[in-house]
Amino acid sequence: MNPKILILGPPGAGKGTQSERLADDFGVEHVTTGDALRANKEMDISDMDTEYDTPGEYMDRGDLVPDVVVDAMVGEALSDVEGFVLDGYPRNGDQAEALREMTDLDVVLVLDVPEEELVDRLTGRRVCEDCGTNYHVEFNRPEEEGVCDECGGDLYQREDDDEESVRNRLSVYHDNTEPVLELYADHDGYVEIDGDQTPDEVWEDVRAAVEAEA
Ligand SMILES: [Zn+2]
Repeated sequence: MNPKILILGPPGAGKGTQSERLADDFGVEHVTTGDALRANKEMDISDMDTEYDTPGEYMDRGDLVPDVVVDAMVGEALSDVEGFVLDGYPRNGDQAEALREMTDLDVVLVLDVPEEELVDRLTGRRVCEDCGTNYHVEFNRPEEEGVCDECGGDLYQREDDDEESVRNRLSVYHDNTEPVLELYADHDGYVEIDGDQTPDEVWEDVRAAVEAEA
């Protein structure tokens, strides 16, 4: 069994954690947009009528990579693997249409988490400025407040984790991905998962859904 899985959900819903467990447990590739972009930086896109000849040129300049290029790179990444869990793509209705042309999905998982829980999760994150280890002020506290257990470095809050930025990110997510959810709502393998549980409990539901649908 090499299931083709799409995982959808807002920032903070736990897509990364569940995707890694899916990759381990079902032996599929964890494909993220970032990985697809990095792996195909040198892809020749000169016939795509784009501003630059490779995706890497957009990234090196810090320019937004156009949808058509992202679509092509995700397509390339998916064509290399038998089964996958796709995480972080599609981000809008156009990308979802493109994905539909690329591959037939077996399972579409949607992690559902109430907005206030997401705000708590995201605004409570703290990161070690030296080694990058993640903590949470409530759910994953270091032994000593503000100090990294691993290396003794100072913990800080990333700028885009303050409440205003978090609420803004969540509203952008909702605006852009409503059309994606609508497009997949009648897919045979569409399953909504209660993401407002512990990661282990969410995993039990995720695994059961993939076993049932794939
Ligand atoms: Zn550290």
